Amino acid sequence: MNGALFLLTVNFLIAQLFCVFFLIISKRSRIPSAARWFAAAFAVASLSAVFEVIIRYADFDRFASFGAFSSLLFALFMIRAGIGRLYAVPSNVPVITAILAASLALNLMIYDLPRSTVSHSLGYQFPFFVAELISAAAVYRSGRREKADLILMALLLLTAAHFASKVYLAVTFGAGSNAQAYLASTYALVSQSLGAVLVVSTGLTLLAVIVVEIMDDAKANSEIDPLSGLFNRRGFNERVDQILSRPISTYPHCVILCDLDHFKAVNDTYGHTAGDQVILSLGRMLKQCAPPEAICARFGGEEFAIFLPSTSETTGYLFAQGLRGSFSSLAFPGLPEDVRVTASFGVCGIESTAISIADAINRADAALYDAKRNGRNRVTRTRQATMINLDDWQAKA
Ligand code: GH3
Ligand code: MG
Ligand code: MG
Repeated sequence: MNGALFLLTVNFLIAQLFCVFFLIISKRSRIPSAARWFAAAFAVASLSAVFEVIIRYADFDRFASFGAFSSLLFALFMIRAGIGRLYAVPSNVPVITAILAASLALNLMIYDLPRSTVSHSLGYQFPFFVAELISAAAVYRSGRREKADLILMALLLLTAAHFASKVYLAVTFGAGSNAQAYLASTYALVSQSLGAVLVVSTGLTLLAVIVVEIMDDAKANSEIDPLSGLFNRRGFNERVDQILSRPISTYPHCVILCDLDHFKAVNDTYGHTAGDQVILSLGRMLKQCAPPEAICARFGGEEFAIFLPSTSETTGYLFAQGLRGSFSSLAFPGLPEDVRVTASFGVCGIESTAISIADAINRADAALYDAKRNGRNRVTRTRQATMINLDDWQAKA
């Protein structure tokens, strides 16, 4: 087995392995079709190596040479299709079909041209060069600039440059007088080694992009409460910490805790599924009513929290009053039309760094407890703040 043949075997096995990896990973991805396109691309690309071996040992050069060319070109456009799914930049199918058809016709036309000439090499490599550029442009147009995206873009451009450089290399070093002589040439060895490195790098980077996407999704899911669609406690803490750790965090902030009233009775009377509908409705209402920068969470059970950045306790209090009023007039699917559920609220302002988020939650919880004790369906502010602000209001009145 000579060097070029050995490399072809390695290329074939690597492409097959990538095909399997992408099929496995597609099951976990939010966009399985992207990974499936990549799997198909690597399966088709591996055929290119098979055709090159046929060139070596069989006598139907023209067919095998066309097969090697077209399988690689189809694979590159399949990668473009996968990138389209992954980056939400759909391919322009008529344009790509036209490029494919023109490239295949061109390949058939140049077969009889003398090899190692600019016209033959250019005709052979140019379609690959264009295909790689189209994929790089798709990543660029997506606007995504994470590290893995930049590496992928760079690799696609590098591979395009590699195909362009092959024109020069073939002319300078000679690519053999026919397809068989090509396989025995040093040019083929260099070209296929470089090809193998680029195939592996592109495959690994595409895998990395999908793995990052899967990990981001897993992280987001671990921070979301599935019933209400709001953040869970972990997601809430993480987002609030991000806001509080900003170099310029504009105090005051405000925390509101909310707990459904007599919810156990709702479950006992109308069933757990109806109770879930009430939780779901409150979650939906919070999402609709809260300002976009607010962080809304379900802390567990029938308890909710809202963090209002750059909001005073007084504004937070008024907001909670609005929520309380709206919620108490809501009807719920699964509950009789005339049944209403109420909620109690505790509000605490964070005036400065002197009060931590944990302190604020405890104080809001104490205020909520007061709201429950004083009859429910009401909003209570932290005691100290209430007195100070009442004094202010009275002074202004
Ligand atoms: P209070 O006004 O004092 O808050 O009374 P309560 O009945 O709301 O409070 P309690 O803590 O006694 O009961 C809370 C109930 O919330 C008990 C539990 O069955 C119900 N609950 C907790 N999580 C869920 C849930 O995910 N779905 C439903 N349907 N019910 C839940
Ligand atoms: Mg309750
Ligand atoms: Mg409770």
